Amino acid sequence: MILVSSCLAGLNVRYNGTNCLDNKIQKLIDEKLALTVCPELLGGFSIPREPAEIVGGNGEDVLDGKAKVVEKSGKDVTELYVKGAYETLKKAQEVKASVVVLKEYSPSCGSSMIYNGEFKDKKIAGNGVTTALLKRNGINVVSEERLDDFL
Ligand code: SF4
Repeated sequence: MILVSSCLAGLNVRYNGTNCLDNKIQKLIDEKLALTVCPELLGGFSIPREPAEIVGGNGEDVLDGKAKVVEKSGKDVTELYVKGAYETLKKAQEVKASVVVLKEYSPSCGSSMIYNGEFKDKKIAGNGVTTALLKRNGINVVSEERLDDFL
C-alpha cells in the first residue's frame, strides 16, 4: 500500500482550507493503491489553522529537541507536530506502506525543501518533522515532485 498526503489527494486539509490536488496521486487513490494521511490533523490541528514553519533547524532537529515548530503569530506548536509525526508513523506501519508520498515544502511533509522559519517565503534543504521520523524508521518517503522516479 502507498500512503499519500491528504492534500495531494484533493482533500481540503491545508492550513488555509485548500488542497494541492495532484492528478497522479488521485489516480493512485482511484485505483485503490493508496490511502491518505494528514500528519497535522492527526497531531490535533483543525482547519483552518495558522501557517507554521520550523525555526532553528529541520525536522530531525525538531525530533531531537534542538528546533521548534512555530506559528506565524509566534505560538510554539512543536508538540502537536511531533504527535502528528508519530501518529503517521503508526499508520504507515499498520498499512505496511511501501512508500509514503508527502507534500514538498511543508513543515510536516517536506522531504527535500522546507521553509526557513522566517515566514518570508524562503526555502532551505531539509525534511519536515513527519518525513524525518518516517525516514529514521526506515520508511521510504518521496515528494509528489519525485513520484515519477518511484512509479
Ligand atoms: S502538507 Fe501534510 S500536513 Fe500539510 S495539509 Fe498536506 S498532508 Fe496535511
